[in-house]
Amino acid sequence: MSRVYNFSAGPSCLPEEVLKECAAEMLDYNGTGQSVMEMSHRSKAYEPIIQDAEAMIRKLMKVPDNYKVLFVQGGGSTQFAMVAQNLGIHTGKAAYIETGVWAKKAAAEAKKLGVEVDVIASSKDKNYSYIPKVEKISGDYDYAYICFNNTIMGTHYEYIPDTGKIPLVADISSCVLSEPLDVSKFGLLFAGAQKNLAPAGVTLVIIREDLIPEVENCRAGTPTMLAYKTHADNGSMYNTPPCYTIYVLDKVLHWIEKNGGAEGMLKRNKEKAEYLYNYLDGNEDNFYHATTEVGSRSLMNVPFLTKYSTGAEDEASKAKEKEINDKFVKEAAAAGLVNLKGHRLVGGMRASIYNAMTLDGVKALVDFMKKFAKENA
Ligand SMILES: *Cc1c(COP(=O)(O)O)cnc(C)c1O
Repeated sequence: MSRVYNFSAGPSCLPEEVLKECAAEMLDYNGTGQSVMEMSHRSKAYEPIIQDAEAMIRKLMKVPDNYKVLFVQGGGSTQFAMVAQNLGIHTGKAAYIETGVWAKKAAAEAKKLGVEVDVIASSKDKNYSYIPKVEKISGDYDYAYICFNNTIMGTHYEYIPDTGKIPLVADISSCVLSEPLDVSKFGLLFAGAQKNLAPAGVTLVIIREDLIPEVENCRAGTPTMLAYKTHADNGSMYNTPPCYTIYVLDKVLHWIEKNGGAEGMLKRNKEKAEYLYNYLDGNEDNFYHATTEVGSRSLMNVPFLTKYSTGAEDEASKAKEKEINDKFVKEAAAAGLVNLKGHRLVGGMRASIYNAMTLDGVKALVDFMKKFAKENA
């Protein structure tokens, strides 16, 4: 068996130790004679798993007692709607900072549900290659919304906007537990699990209790399943939760704890990201360059272009650029480095180096990049 280095933006690589544990328990979990996949979510064997997952989130993220930790379905994308339906209920107005695709989708969904959306800042002017500085947000908003790590653009907030009494909502899908985060600065945090926490299928929501409205006080027409109250009142067991995904999540959380918790992850992630950015910034003859500005760079998602991405619009230049990018992705895959194709909105390549990616994986990537640059200079 040979495993590849997987740079996918999501679903993405999981710690090998966790996969091995899951494999060992596949047919018989803890003497039950069943797989966790086959178990009732209300069984004696399963309930401790979801309870432990919640306890581990609380411990690793130092979640204050007046916050609920929820496990819901529908991915990060369903949160775009739930946030608006549950929080946009007093003035019906919300402030959004536009930093790329995911923030735009969230704003569009809120608008669709009748929330008055103010885009108070945007980095559209430079194709979202930086995070706008918005130190202070004020106004009669029900909430302010940011996407803390922009998976596609490769940017990340290095500050938390001060919103005073306005609840701050952050999409942390692609940076959850990659670094310590002060939960008390936020009204609501959410993360689809498939980037940094687990396989796809579960979404983590951390919400301050006083922000959870009664089901009937959500925006008109909100389905029961899309009210946070429904999940908060039922320990995330109103209906069948994604049992197996939560079981893997729990194992990943223990792996994070064993590796130093959020602080340990930050140290590990900085080491990997610095190794890659240092190469991108310093490579001979500038064969590659990072697309993001210093001061806004993600530790998780690193898009980069080659010198053949000149921005020239003529057919010959575009064809040459495509040829080099395709060649890079294909040869990298043959060398065991997979899923490096960039998102079409940025072009080039993107290396997603989430918690589970090792420094060895990043070193192997940089070694390959050096070789490729020489051969295609
Ligand atoms: C992947 C991603 C999403 C969408 O998540 P789904 O679970 O596919 O709906 C939302 N926001 C960010 C920042 C993401 O990286």
